[in-house]
Amino acid sequence: MPESRREALPAELQEVGLFDHVDFQRSFVRSVGEGEREASLILEGITCSACVWLNEQHVARLPGVKAIDVNYATRRARVRWDDGVVRLSEILAAIQAIGYRAYPYDAERSEQIGQRERRSALWRLFVAGFGMMQVMMYALPGYLAKDGEMTADIAGLMRWASLVLTIPVVTYSAAPFFQRAWRDIKLRRLGMDVPVALGVGAAFLASCWATVTGGGEVYFDSVTMFVFFLLCGRFLEMLARQRAVRGVEELGKVIPAVSERYLQWPQSECERVPVMKLLAGDVIRVRPGEVVPADGVVVEGQSEANESLLTGESRPVAKGPGSEVTGGSINIGSPLAIRLERVGESTRLAAIRLLMERAASERPRLVEAADRVASWFILALLVLSAITGAIWLSVDPGRALWVCVSVLVVSCPCALSLATPAALTVATDSLARLGVLVTRGHAIEALSGARRFVFDKTGTLTMGLMALADQRSAPGVEPAWALQVARSLEEGSEHAIAAGLGAPVSVVKGGGPAIQQRRSFTGGGVEGLLDGKPVRIGNAQFVGELVGCRVPESLGTTSTAGATTVFLGMKGQWLAAFQLTDTLRPGSADLVAFLQTRHVAVTILSGDGEAAVAAVAKDLGVNDFAAGLSPQDKHDAVTKLQDGGQCVVAMVGDGVNDAPVLARAQVSVAMGGGTALARNQADVVLLNEDMRALKRGIALATRTVAVTRQNLWWAFAYNFTAIPLAMAGWVTPWMAGIGMSASSLLVVMNALRLRSR
Ligand code: ADP
Ligand code: MG
Repeated sequence: MPESRREALPAELQEVGLFDHVDFQRSFVRSVGEGEREASLILEGITCSACVWLNEQHVARLPGVKAIDVNYATRRARVRWDDGVVRLSEILAAIQAIGYRAYPYDAERSEQIGQRERRSALWRLFVAGFGMMQVMMYALPGYLAKDGEMTADIAGLMRWASLVLTIPVVTYSAAPFFQRAWRDIKLRRLGMDVPVALGVGAAFLASCWATVTGGGEVYFDSVTMFVFFLLCGRFLEMLARQRAVRGVEELGKVIPAVSERYLQWPQSECERVPVMKLLAGDVIRVRPGEVVPADGVVVEGQSEANESLLTGESRPVAKGPGSEVTGGSINIGSPLAIRLERVGESTRLAAIRLLMERAASERPRLVEAADRVASWFILALLVLSAITGAIWLSVDPGRALWVCVSVLVVSCPCALSLATPAALTVATDSLARLGVLVTRGHAIEALSGARRFVFDKTGTLTMGLMALADQRSAPGVEPAWALQVARSLEEGSEHAIAAGLGAPVSVVKGGGPAIQQRRSFTGGGVEGLLDGKPVRIGNAQFVGELVGCRVPESLGTTSTAGATTVFLGMKGQWLAAFQLTDTLRPGSADLVAFLQTRHVAVTILSGDGEAAVAAVAKDLGVNDFAAGLSPQDKHDAVTKLQDGGQCVVAMVGDGVNDAPVLARAQVSVAMGGGTALARNQADVVLLNEDMRALKRGIALATRTVAVTRQNLWWAFAYNFTAIPLAMAGWVTPWMAGIGMSASSLLVVMNALRLRSR
């Protein structure tokens, strides 16, 4: 088989050397750490969870391969390898060697492969259906005729005709079952197709024998019907699966191929250029109805953009000069001139896609458990049908074979291994549409099972859009000078406080007092040298360490309720205090209330001062909060709340600032605003500015877990009722075929209920 497959490979794959070329790799490979690279591939030929297992085992054994994950539902693979030890072309060759094809992932290719799969499945289905009807026509007279009405030679002729018609059904339509079963047996493992192939093969051969020798029963009608129903079931399942996956793919396809670039801004002439050729700094024109091809800032025009694909927010967002626009959003008002800031792989959309791919290529533990159960199940099944066959042989030898076949067929655990991946795939897509990006396989399960939600305050429960409300200065300190020093210290800082004080985004030469050697302390503040002397801005404790005494009364009292106070000080001297206000994030209160009605505990852990945290906690109705925590304190607090792993804690925080505590929790949710999205390591990233999206996300995750349970329950219940019936001889092989197909289909349909639209 591998030989003929290799011939069928597209020209570009035969020349696998191309895959090691850096330019070629640019679109689907990225560097991760020292010499390590990670590629996103799509595998053709994956038909069951056993194939997934096989590919993973085979590739993981190659020296230099660090990790591989294949997703059954999406057929996507993520491979990570050490480029110094093994090349990508060698990995691809290894995959080819076991009879699959791997391509660099791109949405179009994935669609093509889907189409090809559909077409070949339809042909096999057609042949099986045609064969089945013909065979039925020949079998019917035999069933209807009374004893002795049909002469032996006519009956023999009918049998031969049926035999001839069944051959294409078994050799063409049912071929994939045999191929996969054979592959499994060669690798000494039991897949879903082993019992099916055994059943079809045994029934067909026994019937051929009966036809040739002219004695015994023939089952050609059962064989063709069984193959037909089985293919029907698989075909429908494939359609449903492809539909579920399409949502994820859509994201890759939104970016247009060409764009209009101003030859020279602000001259109004435009040229049409491929989007791939656009560079940061180019000014482009985006007409109404068009998709913005990359991230940038509006330089001219007033319009509205639909960003629903990126944030889940379907209301249009106003855009005017100075507004940021994101690649993938749709301009819906009037033409816009946009100066590009990030293109290609550094755009926000590319980062989102990367995170989604990571989720799609990881297998949650739930699925792995189901797969393990399934392979034991098959073994038990084979033993059971052998025993059944032996018993029937002594009771009624004439029926032994078809009872045996029915047992094999009726209980194939397809539904069992589909139950979880189908539900998770559909749910991941629906969540993304809400603006809740799941980036890890276990996130949905953990989100629904979390018994406690821990929130960070600044930038999480609040918007992090701070405004300077009040400033106090120590006696003898010029207020304007103090503010200048504060701003200079905060130059280039990503913290909301920096923006609130009006600090420049990047470190610029000139202006303000010169600060040297800025160092930022997460959860504390910033230190720098002013004329060679250290000066700090930050919370009372952090600045107090440098000053060496307590905050004087005149600076310490807050005038604005709930404001965040930051201090400025140098050795032996407090200089000033700044009070900044923030606003609650929309939906925060809703989310907290929702969690509390579900009896999920809510905690706020913040690095901010007591007063500011207490004010937010009161507004939200949260009793459990702690203030003045360092990142290490937050980490320890979460560890304690987890109670040795007994309590599943979800942490919601700021993706970049709160990285350690996010990593500590069983499931982490990070705010996805800002440009640091690609650095985000959280399990779930919230792209929607509104916390209500997370609330809906949690509800959906809960429903997903419920659907998964229903599916598993159904799959088990089906098998446990169907098997005894088949063993008792009450199920014919074609009924078994319908039963098995229907049970898989039901599972997929149930999963599709999780679709949002
Ligand atoms: P939260 O836990 O509420 O999100 P952070 O951990 O980000 O807050 O910060 C905790 C406190 O540390 C802030 O309230 C502030 O007082 C101080 N701080 C942190 N970073 C800075 C900074 N860049 N400038 C000034 N103060 C800072
Ligand atoms: Mg924060």
